[in-house]
Amino acid sequence: MKRGLPSNCGCGGRITKFTSSTQENPGRPFFRCETRGEDHLFKWVEEAMLEELEDVLPKVEVHETEIAKMKSEIEELMEIALNNKIEIQKNKVVMKCIVVYACIVSLAFGAYVLY
Ligand SMILES: [Zn+2]
Repeated sequence: MKRGLPSNCGCGGRITKFTSSTQENPGRPFFRCETRGEDHLFKWVEEAMLEELEDVLPKVEVHETEIAKMKSEIEELMEIALNNKIEIQKNKVVMKCIVVYACIVSLAFGAYVLY
């Protein structure tokens, strides 16, 4: 039988969720093919859920490591961005200094030429 939550029976019939009303399993939900019979699907809901979880958990772990990797990559990129920002600030200061210096030089040159 297929693991996890059933989508349809081997016969192609639809699966419906029922609630048991037997003395052994009162209120216990189960999946069953709409065609009753030994050859048709019957599965307790919690067993299907457990299988589903067991099959999904390894994938979740893979996602967790991927997420951890992405987080560290994002942190690296943030650091690079911050460094770039600092670099840009520094360059702005340097540019201002150059402009001021150029002004002083041209003024001095102008004064030298005029007088
Ligand atoms: Zn069936």
